[in-house]
Amino acid sequence: MAGAFDDLYQELILDHYRKPRNRGPLEKPDRSVELNNPLCGDMISVDLKLAGDRVEDVHFHGQGCSISQASASMMTVLLKGKTVAEAAALTKDFKAMMRGEGSFEAAAERIGDLVALSGVMKFPARIKCATLAWNALQLALEGKSGKASTTEA
Ligand code: ZN
Repeated sequence: MAGAFDDLYQELILDHYRKPRNRGPLEKPDRSVELNNPLCGDMISVDLKLAGDRVEDVHFHGQGCSISQASASMMTVLLKGKTVAEAAALTKDFKAMMRGEGSFEAAAERIGDLVALSGVMKFPARIKCATLAWNALQLALEGKSGKASTTEA
């Protein structure tokens, strides 16, 4: 049974890697944050368009490994239409899951397909790949724009 779940998760990750959703720069984003993960060579920009306190649109662009790109793609699908507060809470949920904290079932209920990335936990060097887009998003939600480099997971 565990094997079947692993296969399903693998499928989801590859599907988002091969057919990324919401990929490409937004025209006139309210905020745009570019983050690099020097450990793996991943680069991701997250573009955010806000309407009041709501995430009207969110796109990503950049390049890197399948985990970094799939995580970014799934993140944009999950966050479109959410409020800024909800988006910040989901960022916390995802990063807690990647650290192995909290209830997996509760996290799965909120972040949906992104539980597919939970297997990455077993490979500490790759956790930064999975959290890269989320760290960029977090900076954008905090009102920052521009380029940054992170080794933070
Ligand atoms: Zn990577």
